[in-house]
This record gives sequence, C-alpha cells and structure tokens, in this order.
Amino acid sequence: MFQTRRFQHCPVCGGQIEYRIPADDNRERATCTVCGTIQYENPLNVVGTLPVWGEQVLLCRRAIEPRLGKWTLPAGFMELGETLAQGAARETDEEAGAGIELQDLYCILNVVRVGQVHLFYRARMLSPVFNPGPETLEAKLFHEHEIPWEELSFHTVRYTLERFFEDRRTNKGFPLHTADIA
Ligand code: ZN
Repeated sequence: MFQTRRFQHCPVCGGQIEYRIPADDNRERATCTVCGTIQYENPLNVVGTLPVWGEQVLLCRRAIEPRLGKWTLPAGFMELGETLAQGAARETDEEAGAGIELQDLYCILNVVRVGQVHLFYRARMLSPVFNPGPETLEAKLFHEHEIPWEELSFHTVRYTLERFFEDRRTNKGFPLHTADIA
C-alpha cells in the first residue's frame, strides 16, 4: 500500500478528511468532509550529500525517528525557496556540521512506495572537523571496510554508498546514477 496519505484533518477547518475521487479527476484526493477543500499531495524531494574526506566518507547516526540509531548520509526534506544544491548543503550543515564544497549531483532515486525522490550530491569536506546538530547522535568518518552496512538507515543510502565505492574502484569517474528503489 502506498504510504503517501498525509492528511487526516483539514488544514483549513479541522474537519475530517476522506479520500475521494473529485468529479473532474481520476484519482483519490484528500477531501474535507466539512468544507470540501481538496489537499493535493505530490512526491517530496529528499536532498543530501555524500561527504568525502580523503579515503573516508562521513556518516551520521540518527537521533530521530524513523530509523533512530541507524547510520545515514546527511539528508532531509527540501524546503521551499531553495534549490536542490542549497538544500543538500543546508542538510549537511544541520545534520553533520561539516564544511563542504558541493560537487556533482550523483544519485537520483525514486522511492515510489513512500512518495519521495532522494537526491544525493558528492561533496568534498574542507576539513575533517564536524559538529553534528540535534538530529544526529554522532557523526563519524568511515573507510570502506568500516561501513556499518547492516546498520544503515535507508536503501537509498546503501545504494549511493555502493555506487560510490564501485565507481572509485573502477577509476572512471563518478557518473550520475538513477534507479527505482523498491
Ligand atoms: Zn475543511
């Protein structure tokens, strides 16, 4: 089942929401049973980075649900008023407190089941110093053989790390990767 129904109550009047197909539409929409307002729900962008320092990559251990205590790349929901790149840099600052130089967009991953698109940039850390924010229990640099593969937070994080180490091994650069994550 799609886990994309975000409304239970109408943000306008507080009335009960029902999912109904409007007369001129072809899919169910969050419709207020009291005032009739329709809330349109569309996929959300999650933006983040793969911060690299020498041979090591920076991971953050999540201090918040979902996946509390698991390791992730710094990433979060894009905000209104910012570009993809600005969002990725902001999330890296907020979650890891790492000074970075943003590099190319690296992974575009459809996560249709939860109505999200995850986008990761590669990033070069300017120093090995970082200062995690309140959404992060700890941040740490990992060599490839140290990556906690069984303790990663999201499939998209695993996918991005796998591509990165693979691309680094083959030494042919870092092309853009796109995939659909089941
Ligand atoms: Zn309403």
